[in-house]
Amino acid sequence: MQFKSQPKETHILNPAKNMESRRIPSEIRWDPLTGRTARICHFMKLQWPKPDFEAIVAGTQKMCPFCPEKVLDVTPCFTEDIAPEGRLQLDDMVLFPNIAPYDSLGAVATMGGQHYIPMTDITPERIRDAFKLSMLFFRRVDQIGHPESVYHIINWNYMPPAGSSLIHTHLQVFATSSEPNLMREELTAAKAYADAHQSNFWDDLVAEEIATGDRYLGKIGRSHWMLSYAPMGVAGDVLAVVDGVRATLALEDDDLMDIAKGLVRLMKAYDKMGVYSFNMNFFTGRPADDFARFHLLFSPRTFFNPSLGTPDIGALRNLFNETLCMAYPEEIKDLLKPDFDAG
Ligand SMILES: [Zn+2]
Repeated sequence: MQFKSQPKETHILNPAKNMESRRIPSEIRWDPLTGRTARICHFMKLQWPKPDFEAIVAGTQKMCPFCPEKVLDVTPCFTEDIAPEGRLQLDDMVLFPNIAPYDSLGAVATMGGQHYIPMTDITPERIRDAFKLSMLFFRRVDQIGHPESVYHIINWNYMPPAGSSLIHTHLQVFATSSEPNLMREELTAAKAYADAHQSNFWDDLVAEEIATGDRYLGKIGRSHWMLSYAPMGVAGDVLAVVDGVRATLALEDDDLMDIAKGLVRLMKAYDKMGVYSFNMNFFTGRPADDFARFHLLFSPRTFFNPSLGTPDIGALRNLFNETLCMAYPEEIKDLLKPDFDAG
């Protein structure tokens, strides 16, 4: 496995120091699976000011369609073939069709009746239960043999900087026969890797990351947690790979809890940097894809300029899909590890 990088250097005359010569490093990294490039640069301290959450949340509850007073009145119901009861529920969580679908089988799952849950108040049990509710939906569409029941995906946009249009904590849950771009590129590359090496890329990656320890955070049950070598997030991405699992539907309840525990540990660590928003995506193969391994990415979201609300995605990322990470993933691993180990 090749962890390829190309260091670069910028030479400027520094206005802060009498136009003295100054050399600024940066680095290009190639993702070891897909070859996608990521830039490690800027090298800022990963610390952001936290906003006034009360001001952000104020007034959003009154109109919230996901709060318990409204959710069973204003959200859509499934057709009879998928859910004769209309919506799926687990304790105070509700799963219903996404009224703004981007595929045939799209749902939204509220993560309970509480409108705003601060990131460090989200418990592993709550996340596990929201995953379990999502799995109920996946199993329903799978059991009826729906043609879109191929890849089962949970995405999480937590808080507006990550793309959430609502404060109320919820998951995006969908099944699709159309792999999203990066997932398709990974699946294609993982198949090519398996054909070339008679070996599973993800198993080899986990073994390599454990051996070097450079980016490896630890193991929870069957899930291995590590920093991505070529991250997309400005404060790194954390990758979790579940041993021996090819597809979402093969995850067991214990796996869901282990994943939830890992996510909570990451939230605790990133909260200390002032990060209060993240994306989390499932990446899955089909049950027969031996070259695939179920994995997820957790990517903290923040601002290039918090006072202006400048998002952490600009032209480079939006139109070139070229990413910036503002610290070496190996250093971010050191920042996250104490909280990860503390459990
Ligand atoms: Zn709400």
